[in-house]
Amino acid sequence: MHRCPRCSFPVYGFAIECAKCHYPLTRDGTLYAPARQSLIGADKAHDIRRKALAALALALLMKVYWGGHGPWPVVADPTLQSLLHWLEPLLFNGGLVAYAVGWILRWF
Ligand SMILES: [Zn+2]
Repeated sequence: MHRCPRCSFPVYGFAIECAKCHYPLTRDGTLYAPARQSLIGADKAHDIRRKALAALALALLMKVYWGGHGPWPVVADPTLQSLLHWLEPLLFNGGLVAYAVGWILRWF
């Protein structure tokens, strides 16, 4: 499996153009241009964004279900409350930053 030199979309070795951006890939049966060297690649950037969204979802669940925003009782143990006070902002802000980094790194 090769990568399109313009958009990094995976293409077969026998493809004559990229299925995504229609970049011409072959000249006399050989790859038109060598695959672009990428910093981390689109797949890895997508993986970073997926994990960042999971951290954001976990932070929002902690805020809603453990932050006292509902009619349900909240665990009032001081050790667990201190965990909530640093873990929830860490997951939320870290998730936002990691999503932005993953979104930017898809082009590098
Ligand atoms: Zn392409």
